[in-house]
Amino acid sequence: MPMRTIVITSVTGFDHLTPDGHPERVARLEAVSRALVPLSPREASPATREALVRVHDAAHIDRVFAASPSEGHVSLDADTWMSPGSLKAALHACGAVIEGVDAVLDGEAEAVFAGCRPPGHHAEPDRAMGFCLFNQIAVGALHALEARGLERVAVIDIDVHHGNGTQATAEREPRLFFASVHQGWIYPGTGAAHETGRHGNIANRPLPAGATGDTWHPALEELIEAVRAFGPDLLLVSAGFDAHKDDPLAGLALDDADFARAGSALARLAQESANSRLVCVLEGGYDCPALERSVAAFIGALQAA
Ligand SMILES: [Zn+2]
Repeated sequence: MPMRTIVITSVTGFDHLTPDGHPERVARLEAVSRALVPLSPREASPATREALVRVHDAAHIDRVFAASPSEGHVSLDADTWMSPGSLKAALHACGAVIEGVDAVLDGEAEAVFAGCRPPGHHAEPDRAMGFCLFNQIAVGALHALEARGLERVAVIDIDVHHGNGTQATAEREPRLFFASVHQGWIYPGTGAAHETGRHGNIANRPLPAGATGDTWHPALEELIEAVRAFGPDLLLVSAGFDAHKDDPLAGLALDDADFARAGSALARLAQESANSRLVCVLEGGYDCPALERSVAAFIGALQAA
């Protein structure tokens, strides 16, 4: 059964400017937008402070608002920057995930792809990190639990980097299951297999540099089985595309077809074990041609699932 799929984006992402040469750049959203256009993307609204405080400490939110520059750039850490448009972009990226969650819970869609920037999965409850200001997938998960009354939500993170910020949220929240397949021993340095969380609600599958689909898909299947056992009411996916072999930031070796296969497997999991409720959230992916093709292949697989 094909999944009824909608896509959500925000033009505010074009106003989030990073310094010249920064990999998390406007051209990424241009590439993603080309992949989304055939699906008539809808525009996100900004998230409220109430939605952010479910994940982030008030001090962190205040710090990001206060840092927002009126011109030029400011840095929040070595690689996380804000321009005058960044705050609005980050708030809309969070809003897109909330709207995606509402769309699948209200039966308007079965699958959603939220294609916004900046990414979010490295943002921890108390700090911005790794290109990420706020953690939009965690904000969406907590919206589902707190505002919509779901009992269990699972996140599978397929970005090549470990989603430390989402894992930190799961450490605080046993109703949230976090599972990640990533390249081990690169940024941000977390995500070892022994990190299972004090509530047992975390699963990590780090892979060595050079890993191809031959080892990546079996690792994803193990996470899928763990999520099945958890029995979520909703499945969220941190859809990063930087495990692609053309990506300049990491060393895994997936191709476009691997992302299509991942989309099919995740859609099947949502259909069989999460009430056909799937919300996928763009994270990384820094080779623009590979990003455009992989996003299109991934969404095509959701629609065909
Ligand atoms: Zn990444």
